[in-house]
Amino acid sequence: MISARSIRVRGVVQGVGFRPFVYRLAQEHGLAGWVLNGEEGVAICAEGTERKLTAFIDAIQTQAPPAAVISEIEVQPVEPSGFTGFTIRESERRERPTVRISPDLPVCDPCLQELSDPANPRYQYPYINCTNCGPRYTVILALPYDRPNTTMKPWPLDAYCDAEYHNPANRRFHAQPVACPHCGPHYFLKDAEGATLGDDQAIQRTVELLHQGKIVAIKGLGGYHLACDARNPAAIGAMRERKYRKEKPFAVMVKDLNVARTIIDVSPDIEALLTFAARPIVLAAAKSELPGVAPDNDDLGVMLPYTPLHHLLFAAGAPEVLVMTSANRSSEPIAYDEQDAFDRLAGVADAFLVGERPIARRVDDSVARAGTFGPAILRRSRGYAPGAVANLPIARPLLAVGADLKNSVTLAVDGQAFVSQHIGDLDHYQAFQAFQETIRDLVAMYDVSWDDLLVVHDAHPQYLSTTYSLSLPAAEKHAVQHHRAHVGSVLAERGEWDKRVLGVSFDGTGYGDDGSIWGGEFFAGSVREGFQRVAHLRRASLPGGDAAAQHPVQAAAGFLAQIEGLPDLSAAPFDFPSRYQHALELVHKEVRSFTTTSVGRLFDSAAALLGFTRAITFEGQAAMWLEVLARKSDGAEVYPFPFANGELDFRPLLRAVAADRKHGRKQPEIARAFQRGVAQGLCATIKALCRERQLDTVVLSGGVFQNELLLSDIRDVLSGEPLAIWTNHAVPPNDGGISLGQAALAAFLGEAPPGLPREVPDA
Ligand SMILES: [Zn+2]
Ligand SMILES: [Zn+2]
Repeated sequence: MISARSIRVRGVVQGVGFRPFVYRLAQEHGLAGWVLNGEEGVAICAEGTERKLTAFIDAIQTQAPPAAVISEIEVQPVEPSGFTGFTIRESERRERPTVRISPDLPVCDPCLQELSDPANPRYQYPYINCTNCGPRYTVILALPYDRPNTTMKPWPLDAYCDAEYHNPANRRFHAQPVACPHCGPHYFLKDAEGATLGDDQAIQRTVELLHQGKIVAIKGLGGYHLACDARNPAAIGAMRERKYRKEKPFAVMVKDLNVARTIIDVSPDIEALLTFAARPIVLAAAKSELPGVAPDNDDLGVMLPYTPLHHLLFAAGAPEVLVMTSANRSSEPIAYDEQDAFDRLAGVADAFLVGERPIARRVDDSVARAGTFGPAILRRSRGYAPGAVANLPIARPLLAVGADLKNSVTLAVDGQAFVSQHIGDLDHYQAFQAFQETIRDLVAMYDVSWDDLLVVHDAHPQYLSTTYSLSLPAAEKHAVQHHRAHVGSVLAERGEWDKRVLGVSFDGTGYGDDGSIWGGEFFAGSVREGFQRVAHLRRASLPGGDAAAQHPVQAAAGFLAQIEGLPDLSAAPFDFPSRYQHALELVHKEVRSFTTTSVGRLFDSAAALLGFTRAITFEGQAAMWLEVLARKSDGAEVYPFPFANGELDFRPLLRAVAADRKHGRKQPEIARAFQRGVAQGLCATIKALCRERQLDTVVLSGGVFQNELLLSDIRDVLSGEPLAIWTNHAVPPNDGGISLGQAALAAFLGEAPPGLPREVPDA
């Protein structure tokens, strides 16, 4: 008795070897029918006995290819058509693609074996790949994912590659970027003298240059890296000088896990992150010092090789630990195009290792950490983007443009929320260009019509993302407040639309309902009903507005102006520069002073009192410095940070910091007591508000929660309490997660009952 089934598989199932997998499985089970790539995923029609069909459907789920992510499988009985064999049919294209584009994948083990096998036609070929590995998002120009829609279009397949491409039993069946040295693109090295070397000579020479302490720009999957020997302080010094990057830590790439173990502590959680398909940069405790790589930091950012080229470099004898940092100056976006790289990196790189395959779009390395509450992503980019991270209950397309710092954008199509790669800080011209390109790119790729589109932006009227989105020809536009978006991002990851929670958003800067600068907010509510602000940090002044974020002493002036009886801060041990006095005058005269509840600035103020009196050179630097200091002490003291009448009062906290510093107490002990004070005050507030409002779940999001010591203190203080703590795992807790939260809150706009505003302004 022959039966038939129509099967639809949704999720990341295209460009990951799914059709050949289904084909082989059907052969094994002796089934007839077909498989094809549809606009909604993979469609299968299978005919055979009931027993065989059941086993086949089970195997689809349990034996799927490593890079596939099945989100849904739908099976319906149909009338048998009497097929005689099993075939792979041509892709179908209908109105709007809702397939998920696979993120880029690291080179797989079978390809690595071929890469090092002198008998293989792809021996030492830097562009080796197959359906289980290689580039995806960084080569796709349009959907559906077929070779003419990729940056491999200029390289027609030769007979050898063509045979593999068309053989369903082969690992390269329909591997769109497939190529060999005979028919595909090549690498070459351009040095300062203009000499050019190809392929293995290029790699050999690159290795020599790295050993000589030179800086080489190396083309990767989503852009150029600048590489140098991480154990050569002179090379690192040159890199910092030429790249205008004074202090921000550099990431390193290590030859393999064994080398990783010599420079960082590799726990099972960290090993899982290092070897995860996204191959992110993983932040972990440093074991040995690499001078100049991560100044004033106990952590090191480490990643494993992920392209065939990286493996070839190490196999050819490159230094086992390489600095591999995005090729750009300061916080500009990564260079990804040859001319752009040559122009922007002239004078930075001593040579360029250039591959001919074009990069479709810039995608930086991702950054992750094995956090207190589980894995945390700090920069979500290569290997994760443009994966869908949530399923929103909204049918119409929605574009959320994020915030101006650490920007990402989210496009929801048929409810699937695709979060873009990390774009960067929009006040940099190139990042703002990249932001516009990414929006155009996603909207075009998913064939979204501007006439249907709901655009969501931050409530800050002067954000570039806001003014740009207001210029878009979209059907409808809405603002979502920054800190509600942070809280919403955590709930969106979990698909929790109705769960009422206490949302805590501790952050640097965000535009509040009252026009002041928020960043220490407590909300009660749910995604569906909206969030009401129920408590906040005591208000302080912020002299000079956003400029105060660059100068901890300037932020400190705004907070300390409210505290009586402080010692003379211009004298030792504080030695505040004159900027402090000027800022204090602004506060007292109420000139160019804004109101803030930012916990980020509270950390800056404490850092200033502890000795960080210079300007910062990257966002969050002073708070990171304070955290590192606090880790050096195991003191148990807790400075007071009382909560009353809806306000957390920072005055006793900062008074204690100033007094102990004046009395000569060791800085790490003071930093530790400050951090414990923040955790204790936060937890007391959480307990009081949850009791009062009968809530059992707390959401923590916002840039301040990148502070792992704070998170572990919170966990310790709340252990034993009947409270669930939810944090971000799929998107960053910093502003990189804002676009997802905006999308989630906007998806429910229209749903609030009449008379109940979704965003209740602070009374
Ligand atoms: Zn492979
Ligand atoms: Zn070929």
